[in-house]
Amino acid sequence: MKKKDANINPRTKYYHEKYPRQRQPYPGLDAKMRPVPDCGEESYVGSNRLAGRRALITGGDSGIGRAAAIAYAREGADVAISYLPSEERDARDTARYIEQAGRRAVLIPGDIGDEDFCQRLVTRAHKGLGGLDIIVMNAGYQQYSKDITKLTTDQLVRTFAINVFAMFWMARAAVPLLKPGASIITTSSIQAYQPGKDLVDYASTKAAIVAFTRALAKQLAPRGIRVNSVAPGPIWTALQVAGGRATDSIPEFGMDTPLGRAGQPVELAAVYVLLASDASSYTTAEVYGVTGGNHTM
Ligand code: NAD
Ligand code: MG
Repeated sequence: MKKKDANINPRTKYYHEKYPRQRQPYPGLDAKMRPVPDCGEESYVGSNRLAGRRALITGGDSGIGRAAAIAYAREGADVAISYLPSEERDARDTARYIEQAGRRAVLIPGDIGDEDFCQRLVTRAHKGLGGLDIIVMNAGYQQYSKDITKLTTDQLVRTFAINVFAMFWMARAAVPLLKPGASIITTSSIQAYQPGKDLVDYASTKAAIVAFTRALAKQLAPRGIRVNSVAPGPIWTALQVAGGRATDSIPEFGMDTPLGRAGQPVELAAVYVLLASDASSYTTAEVYGVTGGNHTM
């Protein structure tokens, strides 16, 4: 019998056609996207690499956060997810996958642009899971703006509050609860390294996330807590169709990368698992790019 070729071409492994033009109001829902992003629902297979651990994932309802949530549950972790109240439908879908993996799901809706909520979020996740070992700071806000003279202070403050200040508020609440071996993972972006002209505010927050990650990693190293970041390239998620980019640029999304297509959230899952797990015990203050070839340095 002829042996099946085990190699899979990364250019064609996932959706690589033009995307249909589409637009949703912020923050958008995975459930309403065409095609629906692949967060590993049917494909991610775990192998107990996070057995018994407890993770909080912000923005865990959809996209990259959902891919991490599904993977963490299938690796044996209980998972709390935060999201905005309008994302209840996506959040319930994610919770169903966590529970189908035999793990506990804790749902915590609310706006992380609010300092008090960030404090409550950490406390509720810690209580709901009976402890906290992994925090994935993944929620993010991206609205494109072509002209800095038209960038409103409202948008500027909101982008920094959700993408940057929330990390400080959550870390401040969480660090006293974390034990040696805990792992914090932030989500930065290729935009920190190769900022686009329509994302001046967003790209600036993503560069701030890189500095936050590296500085906090050094501050927490003496306590045995690791802090790392994942820097995605163009990934097919609701963020992109809910004002993250001009609708006209949706069809060609990701096609300008060396691999010739946008990534799917599931293609980041293994990296979030690795950085959370004890297998990366000597890795801290690092940024792991998953960019389709537009490297971060
Ligand atoms: P997504 O829309 O699926 O996830 C973002 C999540 O952020 C939302 O689901 C929402 O729950 C959460 N969020 C937004 N505003 C919030 C608020 N005020 N309060 C609480 N939660 C809020 O999109 P995604 O692409 O999976 O985004 C995840 C992360 O990845 C973000 O930090 C984003 O900046 C980053 N990222 C995405 C891409 C990409 O191409 N999609 C590229 C680089 C970095
Ligand atoms: Mg969402």
